[in-house]
Amino acid sequence: METITADVVVVGLGAFGSAALWRLAERGVDVVGIDRFDVGHDLGSSHGLTRLFRVACKEHPGLAPIARRSLELWTALGERYGETYVEQGGCLNVGAPGSSAVAGTVAAAEGAGVPLTHLDHDRFVAAYPQYAASDPTAVAALDPEGGICFPERNVRAHGRAAAEAGARIYPGTRVTEVELVDGGVRVVTPTVTFEAAQAVVAAGAWNGKLLPDLPLTPRRTPLYWFAPKADATESFDIADFPSFVYELPDGSGLWGHGSGDGFHIKIGLWEGAGMFHDTDPDELDRYIHPHRDIDMLAEAVAAAFPQIDPVPVKVIPCMITNSPDEQFLVGRPGGDPRLVVAGGDSGHGFKHAAGIGELLAQITVGETPYTAVDFMDPDRFRA
Ligand SMILES: Cc1cc2nc3c(=O)[nH]c(=O)nc-3n(C[C@H](O)[C@H](O)[C@H](O)COP(=O)(O)OP(=O)(O)OC[C@H]3O[C@@H](n4cnc5c(N)ncnc54)[C@H](O)[C@@H]3O)c2cc1C
Repeated sequence: METITADVVVVGLGAFGSAALWRLAERGVDVVGIDRFDVGHDLGSSHGLTRLFRVACKEHPGLAPIARRSLELWTALGERYGETYVEQGGCLNVGAPGSSAVAGTVAAAEGAGVPLTHLDHDRFVAAYPQYAASDPTAVAALDPEGGICFPERNVRAHGRAAAEAGARIYPGTRVTEVELVDGGVRVVTPTVTFEAAQAVVAAGAWNGKLLPDLPLTPRRTPLYWFAPKADATESFDIADFPSFVYELPDGSGLWGHGSGDGFHIKIGLWEGAGMFHDTDPDELDRYIHPHRDIDMLAEAVAAAFPQIDPVPVKVIPCMITNSPDEQFLVGRPGGDPRLVVAGGDSGHGFKHAAGIGELLAQITVGETPYTAVDFMDPDRFRA
């Protein structure tokens, strides 16, 4: 079997891996990138045209610098390729003042110096009449740096920039084993073996297949698009109905954004809503079940936004991969100098992809990371 050598092999070229490949190649590292599918495919976690972009992230205050680094890198790449990788129309965090959507975002914003605009219920509904049916306790905190980003487009741009900087890319190549050997790694595929000093493993929902010690649980989580009712009087264009995270009085929640150039209104349910199920990524059920996959969300959409037709116009399967604390795993498991991992996206990783790629490159080459990474330490769950 052919053997290919490099300094670093990146396994998985989705959101995190393609960004790591790009940032390593930009540093002049001799790097190879491998994906079982192609770059920008729709079979993992990074497809479906758009993702919410937020800087004030209720999930952890340490994420704001990573989102901002993504923005910086994507803006520069957009100038290079004449494409838009982040569209900043703001992100509304909606709920009761003490809800995690509002209080959690406010706390994260304070920690990270993100200037939110606070709207009491009357001002909020006057500015965004699409929320006229919201509970009278609902207020909004607008993250002006928020908006949307574009998974397939951004991942392809990472791949293009990586290739232009000298990375060698092997699409359609499934890694069967990442073997830690004396002085490096052997990355085995059915056709080629790669030998390198280090591997960056960013295989998304498949991370656990290659590194079974990681505490990761892939979960089937479809994507849904909607259209306004024919007699709707409000605009659901993204300019008027920007991206949002909306916690409902019962503690469940919706996220989404309005329609735009080439995409419909997108709305999803938060995790924990009882509609999504853990899955083996190789056995992902790609059939959309008319009731099981739709009814609970349709009911929530009908109640929250009565002017939107609650029957989705399109639904496609996707996966998130949860870690026990729903925070990413980024770093060297067991401090091993041969291995860096990125995973556990827990459904909120895309906006951070370029910034995580930069951290992965820094960790791999031994630079000081541009921001704190301890909260993403892959060893934090060890006894
Ligand atoms: C419904 C839904 C909504 C979401 N909404 C948001 C949002 O609004 N904002 C946000 O920031 N994030 C959001 N996310 C999360 C975001 O999409 C993920 O965090 C991100 O896509 C994860 O990227 P990844 O690199 O971990 O995985 P992926 O992009 O799936 O990359 C993993 C790659 O590894 C490859 N691979 C796997 N196994 C092998 C192997 N053996 N050999 C070679 N290659 C392999 C795969 O083919 C794939 O390309 C959402 C996710 C879902 C499902």
